[in-house]
Amino acid sequence: MLHGLPVAPGIAVGRAVIVRFGGTPAFRRALPLDELEGEERRLRRAANSATEDFLRHSRESSGAMGSELAAILEAHGLIASDETLLSAIVERMRKDRVNAEWALASVSRELGRRLEAADSAAMRERAEDIADVAREIARHLSGGEPLAGRDLPRGSILVADELSPADAARLDPRRVRAIALERGGPTSHASIIARSFGLPAVAGVAGLCEAVSPERPIIVDGDRGIVESSPSRARIRKGLLRVREAREKNRRLRARTAGAAATADGVRIILRANLELTEEIPSLERCHAEGVGLFRSEFLYLAAAPSSPSVEEQQEAYERLLEAAKPHPVVVRTYDLGGEKGIGPAPGENPALGLRGLRYCLAHPDIFDAQLTALCLASRKGELKILLPMVGGVGDLRAARRHLERAVARVGLTRPPPLGVMIEIPSAALLAHRIALEADFFSIGTNDLAQYALAVDRSNPDVSALYRPLNPAILRMIRSVVEAGAACGRPVAVCGEMASDPIGIGVLVGLQIRELSVTPVAIAGVKDALLSIDSERARALAEKALNVSEASEVEKLFRGLPHAPPGVSARKVAP
Ligand code: PEP
Ligand code: MG
Repeated sequence: MLHGLPVAPGIAVGRAVIVRFGGTPAFRRALPLDELEGEERRLRRAANSATEDFLRHSRESSGAMGSELAAILEAHGLIASDETLLSAIVERMRKDRVNAEWALASVSRELGRRLEAADSAAMRERAEDIADVAREIARHLSGGEPLAGRDLPRGSILVADELSPADAARLDPRRVRAIALERGGPTSHASIIARSFGLPAVAGVAGLCEAVSPERPIIVDGDRGIVESSPSRARIRKGLLRVREAREKNRRLRARTAGAAATADGVRIILRANLELTEEIPSLERCHAEGVGLFRSEFLYLAAAPSSPSVEEQQEAYERLLEAAKPHPVVVRTYDLGGEKGIGPAPGENPALGLRGLRYCLAHPDIFDAQLTALCLASRKGELKILLPMVGGVGDLRAARRHLERAVARVGLTRPPPLGVMIEIPSAALLAHRIALEADFFSIGTNDLAQYALAVDRSNPDVSALYRPLNPAILRMIRSVVEAGAACGRPVAVCGEMASDPIGIGVLVGLQIRELSVTPVAIAGVKDALLSIDSERARALAEKALNVSEASEVEKLFRGLPHAPPGVSARKVAP
């Protein structure tokens, strides 16, 4: 039994496919002894091809401008053909009975770590060279194609060190039954996508990739945060039984919650869906959402990488969303690139505090203007609202509005689409009364608001126990945003994961939030939870919660409110 964080509910039984995405991507496969020789030949062929590529690129780039680059590429060529390195990889294949990809990734990672710890800067730079060379050999081992989740065998359980948002977006949910990760936390984007796909997931499991055997059956319990790496036949039978029971329970839950969302005492709550990919559009209708409260548009961008999606491609995607959501609105968030979304920061930079979200767009006006043009064009097809991520204050909003006004003029619209602000940076929460004078609506992103207010990296399992969005400091911020919105007549929604947390739902209703946006698979559970909440009692409890000192006290207060059955939660506490 390996323990981690329960980040997406449900249980699954399937065969483990182990992938290292970080550093040099690699599948792990058990290697029978009689395949060792063939595998060694495959490795040496890939290393030869990598060497040839490096040396060819080196020759092509020599000349005054490229002499430095040429020297680096030549050095890479030498490393790729270095017999000491290749023998170490072959030795690892023999000793651990693993395939070439896995041995290459392990050896190069260990070598890289040793070099990174060296005193001399020149040695530390060598660590990067080793990583570059290993990546190139890996590319040749896989026939030149990057690893893609779409290639996984049906019925797989993806076991990985980490999963970037771009890799997560490339997964084919029909092939994968569950996800288990060494890194990540409840609100990292891989976990959010797992929930969107309805896949059980466990994150933050230390030593996972080494502990699980490739292609063997394993059980992932996303309700309890447990991975069973070599279950007995009896455990597998029990796991399969739980899978069937969960399916039946979900069916009953969906039937019970087909109507509009409201509390037990009849207060209407608007419940919309958070979507990341246009592939999720069919789930919109199935889940009875009142439109889309958050479309994380950056996944369009990540899916099109390395090129950017054209204005026409974007327009087409937004129009499809608007069509599917009718008669309800669609809130498209402009690109929240940067941060953990795969636009790589330089070593040593802190991506969460760098060029992320609106900051990234303002620094790359060509990308931002193309997106705003596509949004304005699509807005003719339905009720479209534009939401800005990572707004720090009024200045950011004004700068974005200037871009929007230019796009409106380019396209010839008579009126701009409503422009809203995500409240996810504490400065914006504290200045919401000023921002409300100029924003058309607010959507509170509790995932980042908690990350920035508590100074806790939302993806780092080492500090996940400190990640407590129910901290009263955050409730106070939410309350002041609600008051700022009410004073200026601006709607205030919550689109962070707190909106699908059994206790969070009661807290938000108590703080007078009347619009929630959650992942489609959570909608039925949220409706069910709302039906057990008395809004007046929630309001009285929220008043008390604003005056306690700890998240645990808030939880204790609200545990008195009946709440949703297990399985809805996206944020259960770490074991
Ligand atoms: C949030 O920060 O709460 C949010 C909804 O956006 P994301 O999770 O994409 O950062
Ligand atoms: Mg955010």
